[in-house]
Amino acid sequence: MAAAEDPADRCRRNLATVRDRVAEACRRAGRDPAGVRLVGVTKYVSAAATRMLLDAGCLDLAESRPQSLWIKARELASHEPPPRWHLIGHLQRNKIRRTLPLVDLLHSLDSLRLLEAIEAEAAAAGRVCEALIEVNIAGDPGRTGVMEAEVAAMLEAAARARHVRVLGLMGMAAVPDGPENTASARRQFARLRELRDDLARRVPTATGLGELSMGMSGDFVEAILEGATLVRVGSALWEGVGE
Ligand SMILES: *Cc1c(COP(=O)(O)O)cnc(C)c1O
Repeated sequence: MAAAEDPADRCRRNLATVRDRVAEACRRAGRDPAGVRLVGVTKYVSAAATRMLLDAGCLDLAESRPQSLWIKARELASHEPPPRWHLIGHLQRNKIRRTLPLVDLLHSLDSLRLLEAIEAEAAAAGRVCEALIEVNIAGDPGRTGVMEAEVAAMLEAAARARHVRVLGLMGMAAVPDGPENTASARRQFARLRELRDDLARRVPTATGLGELSMGMSGDFVEAILEGATLVRVGSALWEGVGE
């Protein structure tokens, strides 16, 4: 039997492959690779595997559940250089207090109620929460995120919230797996970018909507072609690594 590849080596190799594909997509799009941040999604793996990715040089890490983020942030707190944590899943209001101090960027600001609750907590703690509004680009009520028609009102509310800074939008393409669906993903990403451009023109308080978080393992190339500044990649980084 051939010796299995060391998981840390495999993790480094996966990261290099994903980075190459990001660079190639930037080249195709005529974009500066410095304008696309790779966020490594660690929700499938243990803190030990997460540390491998961090050691390999991926400093932006994401979890979709606040509790998992708490645990990993604690386990990796003394890592040099320290990771930047992103929360990409729903934040329940009763978890705001414990989560805010750990998170660099919240990708999933998905309701006015959550915005108001974060504002109250961040004001009390004397901090500012940087966030992206998660948009339901599929327009499917069964999915998470704010409906397109409601994003302007969210931005206006966010402009009044002194302790929440909205830096852009996040969206997930609603497509079943399969190569024939990348064209559909690309159209949805284009739509999110157009929504962002439209809001930046139409809503006077919507300053600095520079960030677009879109694209996962199956569609990050399409997302970069349509202007993603943050891509959230999980499974492609963990192939053959175990957990
Ligand atoms: C899990 C998850 C990802 C990563 O998905 P992969 O297909 O594993 O790359 C990205 N974004 C969100 C919101 C997720 O929940």
